Amino acid sequence: MAKRLRDYELLQTYPVVIVHVMAVIGLVMAAMGNVPWEAWALCFTLYWVRMWGVTAGYHRYFSHRTFKTSRVFQFIIAIVAQSSAQRGVLWWAAHHRDHHKFSDQERDVHSPIQHGLVHAQIGWIYDHNGKTDYARVKDMCKFPELVVLNKVWVVPTILLAVLCTAWLGWAGLLIGFGLNTVLVWHGTFTINSLSHVWGNTRYETGDTSRNNWILAIITMGEGWHNNHHHFMNSARQGFFWWEFDMTYYTLKALSWVGIVWDIKAPPARVYGADLEAPASARDVKAESVSSIEAA
Ligand SMILES: [Zn+2]
Ligand SMILES: [Zn+2]
Repeated sequence: MAKRLRDYELLQTYPVVIVHVMAVIGLVMAAMGNVPWEAWALCFTLYWVRMWGVTAGYHRYFSHRTFKTSRVFQFIIAIVAQSSAQRGVLWWAAHHRDHHKFSDQERDVHSPIQHGLVHAQIGWIYDHNGKTDYARVKDMCKFPELVVLNKVWVVPTILLAVLCTAWLGWAGLLIGFGLNTVLVWHGTFTINSLSHVWGNTRYETGDTSRNNWILAIITMGEGWHNNHHHFMNSARQGFFWWEFDMTYYTLKALSWVGIVWDIKAPPARVYGADLEAPASARDVKAESVSSIEAA
């Protein structure tokens, strides 16, 4: 059932509103010819850097632990992820683990099936979901620096805004940071909303997850969401060579220079038996989520 406007914590949405207004003002400035090319280059580059923080960081590392890295690089990934203004890594991972455990059920906080597309896209963040459930991310709580960073989650975002402004003034703030933030937000959020509505289903996962190549391009590989729901413990979400998965390629490249290692691959069965005779999806899912938490 779609939520009513009064169900949301509307007073807390002001930062999101402000950033959207910044983006609109930036576009008006651009239409008037007041934005240098460097600001567009910054916007373009930061899109991929911050999206990588979301996909490799929030998602494939902190939520699913699909590869290993050093404690220092782990912290760096967390900072890059949080520069995208999607709250703390522990908050993100805790909610995401619930998304897999309760996909499309009542406890799935951003299911478009439960409360509609707008709720799944952005509304859920303001639906009394601001607290971090540390019990869901015990494995990550053993790093005190992550717990602290999770509490002061907005600091990397503010630092980025300051740097953009220091370099290119208003154009840096409004286009390099503001418009960029809006694009990264909505690009990411398509996975919560459209990836459970638009695309193809390869595996019977017991939920509405879909594979969609357009969403895979804008999210660096997250659009292979049905693959991911089928086997969430793989760092590679584009299971086949033709399934573009930029995040996975970058992780592979980082492994060649020893920055990350133990990159988990999909099991052989996803290319064979699972295509014809899917296992009981709910059992596999519960098992996978538990194994992450127990680690
Ligand atoms: Zn999903
Ligand atoms: Zn996931």
